[in-house]
Amino acid sequence: MSHLILMFFLISLNFACKQEEQSQPTPAKRDRSPASTTKNKPKKTTSPAETREESSGEDELDWDRITYTLEEDPSADAATKAKYQEIDKALGEAIELYLRHTSLRVHLNVKYDPGVPTAQAKPSDTEPGEGTIDFGGMISKRVALHELGHVFGAGFWGDLSKDGEFHGPLAKAKLAEIDGKGAKLNADKQHFWPYGMNQDSDVKSDQDFVSHCLMTEAIHQDIENSKKENGFNLKAVRYTPIP
Ligand SMILES: [Zn+2]
Repeated sequence: MSHLILMFFLISLNFACKQEEQSQPTPAKRDRSPASTTKNKPKKTTSPAETREESSGEDELDWDRITYTLEEDPSADAATKAKYQEIDKALGEAIELYLRHTSLRVHLNVKYDPGVPTAQAKPSDTEPGEGTIDFGGMISKRVALHELGHVFGAGFWGDLSKDGEFHGPLAKAKLAEIDGKGAKLNADKQHFWPYGMNQDSDVKSDQDFVSHCLMTEAIHQDIENSKKENGFNLKAVRYTPIP
C-alpha cells in the first residue's frame, strides 16, 4: 500500500510541471569518459552550417559560436537514424535563429534517447560554455529552441524566479520592449512565458521564435550578473522538486 502511495506521489511530482515538456530536475552524469557509455558510438561535432539546407542570401553568421556533438550509434536501425536526421534539422534551424538574434555561445552534447518522453536539457555545471540536450519523443524546431533556453539558464535561475515571476531586470526590460510596458514575465521553477516555447500552441508567428531568442539571452545575462553579484553557482540553483 505504501508503495502505491509513493508511486502516486512520484507520478504527481512528475506531472507537477504544467508545460508539456520538462527539463531534467537532477542532471544526469556528464559523459566524462565516452568509452564507458558510448562504446562503438563515434561522436561527430557538427556545425549546423553543414547539415541545414541552403539558406538564401548572404550568410555572415559565425557558425562556430554554437556547435553540437550528436552521439550516434552506427549500428542503429533505420528508424533511429531517421531520428538523428530529425535532430540535425530541428537543432540546425534553432541554432541558426539563436546565432542570428543573440550573441550567445555554447557547445552542446546531444543525444537521442527514446526513453525520454519529450526532451530535456541543462547547462553543464562542470564545463562552462557546455550543455546537454537529450531528445526523445518530441523533436522539432520549437522543442530545440525550448531546450536551448534551458541550456542557457531557464530553470537554473535560483531566486530570480520567485512568486510566479522572473525578476531579472534585463529580461523584464526586454519583454517590455517586445510586448509593451507592464507586460508580465511569468516563471515557475523551470519555465518562463511568454516566449518560453513551452508548447506548440505558444507559437503564433515566426516573430515568436525571434522573441524567444531575445528573451533567453536577456535571462541568461540576468543569471550571469546575479551569479557575479551573489556568488551563487549552478549547483545552488539547480531545480529540485518541492514535495
Ligand atoms: Zn522545459
